[in-house]
Formats: sequence, structure tokens, C-alpha cells
Amino acid sequence: MLKKALFLDRDGVLNIDTGYLYEPKDWRFMPGIFEVLRWFKERDFLLLLVTNQSGIHRGYYTMSDFIEVSLFMQRELKRELGFGLDQIYFCPHTPKEECSCRKPLSGMILQGIKEFDLSASDSWLLGDKSSDIKAAKGAGIGHSVLLSALEEEGEKPTFRVDSLSCLSQILQNHS
Ligand SMILES: [Zn+2]
Repeated sequence: MLKKALFLDRDGVLNIDTGYLYEPKDWRFMPGIFEVLRWFKERDFLLLLVTNQSGIHRGYYTMSDFIEVSLFMQRELKRELGFGLDQIYFCPHTPKEECSCRKPLSGMILQGIKEFDLSASDSWLLGDKSSDIKAAKGAGIGHSVLLSALEEEGEKPTFRVDSLSCLSQILQNHS
């Protein structure tokens, strides 16, 4: 049987978005994210991060800053949950570079599907922008969740929630 994954955006989903965050001291997990990660982990989903990090090529921080904050994130997750994320995909490019990985394009998700031999239709994506939902649709991801208080223009997610605890409630009823 093919594996399945939860694709996750980072800023605004995993951690509170402070804008071009790269220092561990600024890292705060989003309220309710641990319960969501636990739900998916218990059901054998891989946890794959897909994050636009144009701050690297904009020169706001370096690749090694990004790696350092990623290692910090993994350590904190393991401490809290006993597991970390299974892979981290990131796009360092600015929009001008016209790469195929920057969301709303699906490059990072397609890479994850290939690398882990995933069933896209059994996989989920959790994001806070319509560009996340568009990237999921483009890769054929079966279930998408938009974490946003506002109705957004563009691609319709499977679920829209205004908090992660609200998502946890939906998931409990789902199982
Ligand atoms: Zn890119």
C-alpha cells in the first residue's frame, strides 16, 4: 500500500508567523499544533514540511540560519511529542527567480510524493494561505485544510478552520 503524508506549511501553521523568522529565540509553536501532529502521526502519516523561504535569497538570513532554526524546531518537537517531522522541503527563491518549487506551484509537494512513494489522494495539506491550497490541488492532494479566519479567494479547501483546536475537533469526528 502506498504511504500517505500530512504536508504542512511552517509560518502561521507550525509556528506563530513573525515575518522572516530565523532565530530560535523568536520561535513559538502555534496553539493546538501538537494535537494535530499527534493525530496524524498515530494514523501513520508522514509529516512533511513545505515552506517558502525567500528570505534566504532576499538576503535577510542565510541557508545556515534556516538549517539552525530547523534543527531547533525538530529538537523541540521531539522533546514535546517524542517525534519530529520526517522531511523538510524549502524554497529559497524569490518570485523573480521563477522556480518550480515556490508555492503556489506544487514542486515541493511533488518531490515529497516521489521521494516517499505517496498516495496523493490519501494525503492531506495544512496551510494558512490560498497559495498552499493551490499547491495542494496542483499535486492532486486529496484533503486540504485552510487555517484562516477569513474566507479567501481562489482554490477552495476541503475544510476551512479558524483555529487548530477547531481542526482537532473535525479530526476527532473524522476517525
Ligand atoms: Zn523555489
